[in-house]
Amino acid sequence: MNKEDLFKKVISHAKEYGFIFQSSEIYDGLQAVYDYGQNGAELKRNIRDYWWKAMVQMHENIVGIDAAIFMHPTTWKASGHVDAFNDPQIDNKDSKKRYRADVLLEDYAEKLRQKAEKEITKAKKRFGADFDEAMFRETNPRVKRYLTEAEETVQRMAQSLEKNDLADVKELIEEKGIACPISGSKNWTEVRQFNLMFSTQMGATADGANEVYLRPETAQGIFTNFLNVQKTGRLKIPFGIAQTGKAFRNEIVARQFIFRMREFEQMEMQFFVRPGEELKWYEYWKDQRMQWHQALGLNPDLYRWHDHEKLAHYANAAADIEFDFPFGFKELEGVHSRTDFDLKAHEKYSGKKLQFFDPELNENYVPYVVETSIGLDRMFLALLSAAYQEETLEDGSTRTVLKLPLALAPVKAAILPLVKKDGLPEISREILSTLQLDHNVQYDEKDAIGKRYRRHDAIGTPLCITVDHQSKEDQTVTLRHRDSMQQERISIPDLPAKVSELVKISSLLTNKS
Ligand code: ATP
Repeated sequence: MNKEDLFKKVISHAKEYGFIFQSSEIYDGLQAVYDYGQNGAELKRNIRDYWWKAMVQMHENIVGIDAAIFMHPTTWKASGHVDAFNDPQIDNKDSKKRYRADVLLEDYAEKLRQKAEKEITKAKKRFGADFDEAMFRETNPRVKRYLTEAEETVQRMAQSLEKNDLADVKELIEEKGIACPISGSKNWTEVRQFNLMFSTQMGATADGANEVYLRPETAQGIFTNFLNVQKTGRLKIPFGIAQTGKAFRNEIVARQFIFRMREFEQMEMQFFVRPGEELKWYEYWKDQRMQWHQALGLNPDLYRWHDHEKLAHYANAAADIEFDFPFGFKELEGVHSRTDFDLKAHEKYSGKKLQFFDPELNENYVPYVVETSIGLDRMFLALLSAAYQEETLEDGSTRTVLKLPLALAPVKAAILPLVKKDGLPEISREILSTLQLDHNVQYDEKDAIGKRYRRHDAIGTPLCITVDHQSKEDQTVTLRHRDSMQQERISIPDLPAKVSELVKISSLLTNKS
């Protein structure tokens, strides 16, 4: 299956099986806003749980909080979001479509790189075993031209954006002859900066109402509570504060399903350290976060690191964990060494000291911060697209199966009476009532057993427990495993321990790669 097909299939599967629906679908939807259905909500909750347990429960020096979405507006002035959380936007006057100017130029550069790669592939075929790729890259005039132009385009754009020279960004788009993909026209508006924060009014709409923002990241609620948590928790540096919650960004171009949404959820942790020790902790957290991903058992080739060459003004090191989504490698999580930028800015704007007294050094200082920040929805999409598989079975039939990590599956076990009579439903419901104390399990008696297996394969249920006539005689059931489809006979009293053993989240938490 090619990647484009995979992406289409994942999207329609997510809808058909109750994972993700477009928001307000009956009104034709709201762009880049999605709702999670009955299976999606469970999967999302399990990913969040796994993150929370790995970060908070497994670290004695990390605590979790739940800050409000609304914050005092000065927060966003201090953090730099009011002045600098912008994307450059440009409209095509003929199609009336809006684009991110930087994305148009990035795409242009990417096309040039692809042209170079095509030349290289062609030459590889032509020259066979003798082909020296490095030499060809350096000497072939066409390849060199493509790659140099790509590099120069991106560099000039970066420089102009840095200087806020938006006229030059437009000029570059015109010079390169970039046309609107919809209308094919080159009739562009000026480039303008567009702030990504949503704002609304708090309080009475008459005099005195305050403009407030929907938070574009969860981190600031951690910074503003830094001293509250440190003091009440009597925490000593180094320590971390973790949080999961909604964030909102008015993305100019929101596409690629739940990859780029206007309302999404983040899982962030700020780790407060002694100044000068931040790079050691940065390496530590890079390592920890990659282990968290790898413990899920997906193909390790799906992940790669991308170091930021151009750092944000507040960072002294930053890297992204990129995931091979159906549309290519893209950012899934960021690990950033943010220095003391945020706490210092909040000190300045609030006039309050945000410092820690270090008893070992006998001095006060503003701690440095290493942050890990992952989008829950992006993690959901990563898992769903890696788990989706279509298999041809020995008898020639096919099945669609979600090979999700067992501990994260929405439904852990399905309890299936072979027939709807002869006392089998009663035995099944008894099993259900025992297992549901610890797990999300389902009772399902509709349709032939094969159909029910397929239905549960499609939502990733790791275990199917079938109750048949033999169950009445010897108190045993069939336990079918999702991935191998193998079945074993197991006694009913042994079921709770067996199911817990197979789906427990602790196996992920201790599974260090
Ligand atoms: P991008 O470059 O893709 O816009 P970003 O660098 O702005 O992302 P951060 O501000 O570092 O992202 O946010 C941390 C994480 O939050 C990202 O790694 C991503 O997983 C998630 N995230 C950011 N924006 C969105 C969005 N619009 N929809 C879904 N998830 C998002």
